Amino acid sequence: MSLTRSTPSRPSPIPFNRPWITDEELHLVSEALREAHLSGDGPLTQRASQALSDLLGGTDVLLTTSCTHALEMTAILLELKAGDEVIMPSFTFVSTANAYVGRQAVPVFVDIREDTLNIDESQIVDAITDRTKAIVVVHYGGVAAEMDSIMEIADRHNLIVVEDNAHGLGASYRGRPLGSIGALATQSFHATKNIVAGEGGAIVFGDPSYRTRAEIIREKGTNRNEFLRGVVDKYTWVDVGSSYLPSELVAALLLAQLNRFKAIQSARHKVWNCYLRELGSWAKSRGVRLPSVPEGTIHSAHLFYLILPEAKGQTLMIDHLKRRGITAASHYRPLHSSPAGMRFGRAAGDCSVTTRVADSLVRLPLYAPMSDSDVDRVLSAVTSCPI
Ligand SMILES: *Cc1c(COP(=O)(O)O)cnc(C)c1O
Repeated sequence: MSLTRSTPSRPSPIPFNRPWITDEELHLVSEALREAHLSGDGPLTQRASQALSDLLGGTDVLLTTSCTHALEMTAILLELKAGDEVIMPSFTFVSTANAYVGRQAVPVFVDIREDTLNIDESQIVDAITDRTKAIVVVHYGGVAAEMDSIMEIADRHNLIVVEDNAHGLGASYRGRPLGSIGALATQSFHATKNIVAGEGGAIVFGDPSYRTRAEIIREKGTNRNEFLRGVVDKYTWVDVGSSYLPSELVAALLLAQLNRFKAIQSARHKVWNCYLRELGSWAKSRGVRLPSVPEGTIHSAHLFYLILPEAKGQTLMIDHLKRRGITAASHYRPLHSSPAGMRFGRAAGDCSVTTRVADSLVRLPLYAPMSDSDVDRVLSAVTSCPI
């Protein structure tokens, strides 16, 4: 038998993301099961909707099965026709575009700002044509887009503003909660977001006149909600729609998370602030850019990212962290140059910032139950990378 060198014990892996589930989640999910009302729009959906609305400054909401589905609902509500155009950033998740493509509309991709990675509002006007119907903004990482300029452009050109607020719950722009500024907004409670329900989402009605039709679209195109309220004695097919209504189990999980919103957010902000503080001088000396948060805005600590000075740094950094048991990640591939983006949409301008950022951005692990020692391990791994 040969003597083998003992290997040093490997530190446990640090995932990119991990939901924070406590007894409160178990308790409320059990409550939903005991109530035996498992389909949607029961008491837990009511309570979760109220809690969400409170976080959005009292703006009315409907829970949905996902943010993707909430975006699809906005596409129906906007009554888009084939060839109508919807302006959006190229640097976003596919659902932002897919929802409108599903109604035969054309996504028009605009580049992002260097600092916040949000849609570059100075390029919106040039992207407007007589087919343009809406502007969809994404508050990347939960840092607000330039909403005053965007709302002003939209008013001037008679366009609807939709906020894809998947990242921005709890964030604000000049005192107004993100998700409450546009005529419509969407939220995500996917397992990778700040507040999770496994899969889940919401549509938010900055303009309350959309709500009645939204209830119908969400209930398979029927007026079942009016029936449940006793307004009609039979319900029937009245409009297009689908099954966008989450079950009470999803609502129970969501309610538990919303009840702990403050604790979850403060834990995330702690990690985010620590990254910013501890990486500041390293980033400066290496030409690495860190997130920037404009004055007058509060962010949601959804993402912490590095923008490396050269594209080769992205794989280098991700591999370097991986060898140390740490999962880091790049993010969106640009939509304007993706196969479906080129087939269904068009770019307004060259979107060169999007392309460069997509190739050089690395997101660090960030989750509420992250220990101080894990944050320290990420910090020393990042700063020891030979970029
Ligand atoms: C996560 C995400 C979505 C999709 O959310 P789902 O709830 O998974 O459908 C849409 N837009 C953005 C910007 C996202 O980050």
